[in-house]
Amino acid sequence: MHFSEINCCFLDFIATRSGLRGRGVGSALYDAVVSEYCRNLSVKERGYFSYQEGKVAILDIDFHHGNGTQDIFYNRNDVLTVSIHGHPDYSYPYFSGYEAERGEGEGVDFNRNFPLPPRTENDKYLRVFNKAINLILNFNPDIIVVSLGFDILKGDPTGTFLLSPKIFESIGKRLISTKKPLLIIQEGGYNIRGIRSGSKAFFKGCNENRT
Ligand SMILES: [Zn+2]
Repeated sequence: MHFSEINCCFLDFIATRSGLRGRGVGSALYDAVVSEYCRNLSVKERGYFSYQEGKVAILDIDFHHGNGTQDIFYNRNDVLTVSIHGHPDYSYPYFSGYEAERGEGEGVDFNRNFPLPPRTENDKYLRVFNKAINLILNFNPDIIVVSLGFDILKGDPTGTFLLSPKIFESIGKRLISTKKPLLIIQEGGYNIRGIRSGSKAFFKGCNENRT
């Protein structure tokens, strides 16, 4: 697997911190970690390939920019990629996720990044999230694939936002209100309490809109 295809923020974080990158991606240990943390990417791809006849929007709300996803679809106009994440000036992966990265060739304007600064709180996040949803609805996809990361919550060891679990209630409610088929994939989240409170709030929000 080529390094640029890896959309496993935490894997790369570990690799960088431990110096594995310096030893090359071919090391047995690195490959083992890749295979473990990249399961979500293959799920995402399956979601995409099962809808080859339609348009797909990927909404990545993991704390870390989805640079692998961005790379894969950067030249495509049938897959809209929208990512909200910690600003790369302050957050991993540090080199990608800027607003100016909007796609290439036919893919121009089909890649959108919303980097947010450290200490972002619920109100500000929700405003940006709703903007992202409006972009997606204008694109009118046949399915929305959501990369859901609980590492956006306050207290996550890899994130810097100050979001409370309540944000996931709003996120779930808004996603269901789009009335689009959803494929939800859990990505980051490195604080057990955050995963527990975030997931409970998310499903509560999802159920609020059901009649
Ligand atoms: Zn992450």
